[in-house]
Amino acid sequence: MLELDDVAAGYRGKPVVSGVSVSIPRGGWLAIIGPNGAGKSTLLKAIAGLVPYTGSVMWNEQPVQNLSARERAKAFGYAPQAPLLPDGLSVSSYALLGRTPHLGTLAREGPRDFAVVQQVLSRLDLATMAERKLRTLSGGERQRAVLARVLAQQTGILLLDEPTTGLDIGHAQALLDLVDRLRTEDGTTVVSTLHDLTLAGQYADQLVLLDKGEVVATGDAGRVLDAEVLARHYDARLNVLHGPDGTPVVVPKRR
Ligand code: ADP
Ligand code: MG
Repeated sequence: MLELDDVAAGYRGKPVVSGVSVSIPRGGWLAIIGPNGAGKSTLLKAIAGLVPYTGSVMWNEQPVQNLSARERAKAFGYAPQAPLLPDGLSVSSYALLGRTPHLGTLAREGPRDFAVVQQVLSRLDLATMAERKLRTLSGGERQRAVLARVLAQQTGILLLDEPTTGLDIGHAQALLDLVDRLRTEDGTTVVSTLHDLTLAGQYADQLVLLDKGEVVATGDAGRVLDAEVLARHYDARLNVLHGPDGTPVVVPKRR
């Protein structure tokens, strides 16, 4: 269980997100949604321990500050929104970096590490590009390489910042399906920001809507993906329809 209690985080002592309290059970998926600048990435970085925060973040009833660097790297896998990539590395060498927390001191990668990387690359449709340099990839391929690295890390918690950015609908779906399978099969706990509200409602079992750094709605998709609430906080014209399985479909309305 990942528990946030009254978390606030920001930069140079000035919070840009505050008052976040939420519990995510093992195998749960929390989507953080909200307009640009609402504080979604900052909240994710705070959970990842990359920006200072106040309040508490507990993992399996332990404050995460008490974890050693290695324990933390085994517990939390973080995929940033727009990472700087070591462009000269190949896709497979880059994904192999995800195995670092699992290696002993001075240990080299073993057959198991290579097998994990190979499996992740093929699940992300990157197997044929394993030896290509990162600099030669398209935007969507780079995005998938970033996810390959974090998935190879095999952590209990995945923190994914806009993981489908730049992916076509097929690759976006394949990625979200893969993450979904990790949570049902391995009990991986997922926290992601997602700008596509319909996808957020389809995959996450809990949503938090942030606006100007504050939680303005929380609950399941049926509750948070409310046309009036979304229109107000995104300053947008939109309808919420319902798909065959009842999940909300958020559709922009043109004037
Ligand atoms: P979102 O991911 O919801 O679009 P962010 O968490 O990236 O929003 O940003 C929230 C606010 O914090 C914005 O006003 C942004 O300008 C500010 N911010 C983001 N990163 C930094 C930073 N490194 N230093 C100072 N302010 C930042
Ligand atoms: Mg962001």
